[in-house]
Amino acid sequence: MYENMIQCPICGKKVSMRAITCPKCGHPLYIKEESEVEEKDISEYNWLITFVLVVFLGGIGIHRFYVGKTGTGILMLITLGGLGIWTLIDLIMIALGVFTDSKGKKIKLKL
Ligand SMILES: [Zn+2]
Repeated sequence: MYENMIQCPICGKKVSMRAITCPKCGHPLYIKEESEVEEKDISEYNWLITFVLVVFLGGIGIHRFYVGKTGTGILMLITLGGLGIWTLIDLIMIALGVFTDSKGKKIKLKL
């Protein structure tokens, strides 16, 4: 019964978790929502690991295997990173935080 209820930090009234503001005092309860929406498009893969992998093992596409892009990872392995050019492009994209994982989510450095 009380699972979906939270307590208002201002007046202490028990309100529904879905409530945007407290019905008693009007205090906003869902201030976190905005950042949750932004994080939806950010990959769960670790940026630092991806970056280290592309620097040291990018020539054989290991960073692509790490982020779940197995198909292009194999292609990169066979072509030796497009003779280094493809790896260099990936390295720049990772460094800029625009490289995406297999779900199309950007891999960014989380602070
Ligand atoms: Zn309240």
